[in-house]
Amino acid sequence: MERNYPMSDPKQTINNILFNKAKELHEKPREIVAFTGIPESDALLNDNENYPHFFVLACVMDRQIPSERAWNIPYIISQECGGPEFENFLALTLDDIYTIFARKNLHKFNEKMSGYFHKAIIRIHSEYKDNAAEIWQLAQPDCKLVMKRFGNFPGVGHKISIMATDILARDFKVPLKGVDEIEILSDSRIEKVLKRTGLVPKNASERQITDAIIKIYPDYPKIAEFLIRETGKEYCKGDFSGCDRCYLNEYCPKNQI
Ligand code: SF4
Repeated sequence: MERNYPMSDPKQTINNILFNKAKELHEKPREIVAFTGIPESDALLNDNENYPHFFVLACVMDRQIPSERAWNIPYIISQECGGPEFENFLALTLDDIYTIFARKNLHKFNEKMSGYFHKAIIRIHSEYKDNAAEIWQLAQPDCKLVMKRFGNFPGVGHKISIMATDILARDFKVPLKGVDEIEILSDSRIEKVLKRTGLVPKNASERQITDAIIKIYPDYPKIAEFLIRETGKEYCKGDFSGCDRCYLNEYCPKNQI
């Protein structure tokens, strides 16, 4: 149920506005996610029924380069290897993959990342019988197990495992249990919004930041984290120049931090 705005309590009002927005995000039907801005590439990345390896390989590539560039790598490789089907990826040797990475300069670390790309293909083949969707489908896993499965791919760290699992649940609407336990990862943008709105004190600890995010949307706190980060990125500028456009403007005390 939607929460009302008690005008007498600005902090509670801000909490309720954020709750309503998080709930809306949680419940909205699935939409195409623009991972790269390239329609052909995004269509394959979003098609986790037929081409789930695109999503997994993109996650493996997402490190130390702009995410749009990393997420487009499977599409570029598919154009080089004869099509988007997994069997075409599987037919590539490590040398083939390295040659494409180097020729097209796909990544900042072409040698290392072409190795991880090849290892990921082999792992999808050997562990998941060529169907990467088994990572989130095999034996009805909860979020923790999905994160563990991503983390078992060479080159995939803790943060990417969390990100991948969160995208599956939040954007792809994969019905995973335990979304309330996906780890919160705060950053300076989130801290700024929470401190300026007064939802946490100016000297808040990491624990207080995490607790404030959980309090906003306990069913799926990671969605509140996403929402607050986007608010920080879009509106909460250093010089308060975005406040006029911010949906919290009317109630936010705009604490100086
Ligand atoms: S009203 Fe201004 S200070 Fe408050 S959250 Fe929005 S952008 Fe940030």
